[in-house]
Amino acid sequence: MATFRIAIVGAGPAGYFAAQALQNLTTEDKSFAIDMIERLPTPWGLVRSGVAPDHPKIKTVSKVFEKVATAGNFRLFGNVELGTDVATTDLIDRYDAVIIATGSSLGRKLGIPGEELFGSLSAADFVPWYNGHPDYKDLVVPVDCETAVVIGAGNVAMDVARMLALEPSELDETDTADHALEVLRRSAIRKVIVCARRGPEHAAFTAPELRELPKLEHTNVIIDAAEIQAALARVGDEAEKDVRSNLAAMELITQTDNSGRDRTMEFKFFLAPLEIRGTDRAEEIILGINNIEDGKVVATGETTTIKCGLVISAIGYEASSIHGVPYAKGKVENVDGRVVGTNVYAVGWAKRGPSGVIGTNKSDASDVVKLLIEDLPAQPKERGDITDLIVGHRIDFFCFHGTNTIYISFNLYGIWRRSLQRLLQRTFPSCN
Ligand code: NAP
Repeated sequence: MATFRIAIVGAGPAGYFAAQALQNLTTEDKSFAIDMIERLPTPWGLVRSGVAPDHPKIKTVSKVFEKVATAGNFRLFGNVELGTDVATTDLIDRYDAVIIATGSSLGRKLGIPGEELFGSLSAADFVPWYNGHPDYKDLVVPVDCETAVVIGAGNVAMDVARMLALEPSELDETDTADHALEVLRRSAIRKVIVCARRGPEHAAFTAPELRELPKLEHTNVIIDAAEIQAALARVGDEAEKDVRSNLAAMELITQTDNSGRDRTMEFKFFLAPLEIRGTDRAEEIILGINNIEDGKVVATGETTTIKCGLVISAIGYEASSIHGVPYAKGKVENVDGRVVGTNVYAVGWAKRGPSGVIGTNKSDASDVVKLLIEDLPAQPKERGDITDLIVGHRIDFFCFHGTNTIYISFNLYGIWRRSLQRLLQRTFPSCN
């Protein structure tokens, strides 16, 4: 039997689904030794740092990933960064195929004046902050204001708005990061306004998420009923199923008692962000009022202002590029997952951009893996693997392998460096 070495870069859902597809497509004459390489010391990517903590059910997909990790011929190398610790070309040389599954971690920019002010944040920073991602633990989220504005009409905007509008005790039973809980507990924010630049019928929210909102115990959820009726009239009977479900869920919200609670989450439509204003921090946002003319969303030229101390934009993501991998339009340059002319493939958001729920990555990864297998040569390369590149080098990595999770920190230099760092921190506490 020929065993092909496959490297998967990124330990998020797309990476695990690609590994699962390889395991499922193992045959009597073709098997796969899978090495997953992850920049962080912990796996599961967005399941850990993207899914809202008040959605614990979605996180249970990690059980599937645990199964993949223990199904044999799978190793996870954590704390190893491609392009920094290990060169992409070195992986390409050693492995029969390299799958890029690094997602899209950069928040798209609004590109409006004032976006860089203190108090104006991207969901790409705020979401991993409340989920305990180590890179974002020091983010400063100003919550000393009455009103926060969230820009965007997708599920990330909705997660962000909910996290700001929930009574913090509702998060006690969740795995929200301690530092975020501490900030949210002293939050003065009582009103969160979600601004969509188009109409309710164009919103990218999904119906199950909308249907949860009337169940919030401590938060009034407000949508203007006239706005939803107008959208229903515009779409008529021709609307697609998703649009109809979304509008039905929004209509239900308009019919639900939305008073008497301390906190409010309000959805406003046809408002496009133009400028964030403030002296040293965000104090207000100027929004252009849009309208529909001949089925098209157009600017009316009129504006409205919302006073607020926090603005979070949730308008989509772009991939952070890896040296040695071609990128275009915020994702890996690929055709159906193939990086043409190479043994490199892309799956998940790195392949198709930031769309789809976690499950979308399963069929997507399976399709790409089928192509990858078609492209494999008759015989494996057998030119070594990642251990040639990291064992004995100045890389401080962890390896998890097989049913007994083995934890190995191979690098004495790393241990020495951490001990020295701790000693320095104890001796000179101000020096971090
Ligand atoms: P998204 O669904 O693409 O939504 C992005 C939103 O930003 C759209 O409403 C878009 O409006 C708006 N937008 C883009 N540029 C803008 C601008 N310059 N000014 C104002 N608004 C702007 O992206 P997402 O919310 O980041 O979600 C990414 C994917 O993850 C989606 O597939 C989502 O369903 C998924 N997700 C799922 C869950 C869940 O299942 N619970 C949770 C989180 C995320 P236009 O339509 O007008 O462009």
